[in-house]
Amino acid sequence: MSERCEGCGDGVRVAGGIGDIWTMDPTGTGGMTLEFTDDSEFFLCFDCIDALPDEPTAGDVAALD
Ligand SMILES: [Zn+2]
Repeated sequence: MSERCEGCGDGVRVAGGIGDIWTMDPTGTGGMTLEFTDDSEFFLCFDCIDALPDEPTAGDVAALD
């Protein structure tokens, strides 16, 4: 299972299958969905999350490559 990072556009592997639930592999997920204060949601890889400021906004996501 994979999702596309909305920051850089890369495909990101995410935990989702039953196998992932049972193995609980911490390296199996490459990103997560962030919710912003304006109720927007973006799925981002950890590289992009690291690049965001402490209190990111949708505009910061749009500014990612
Ligand atoms: Zn990314």
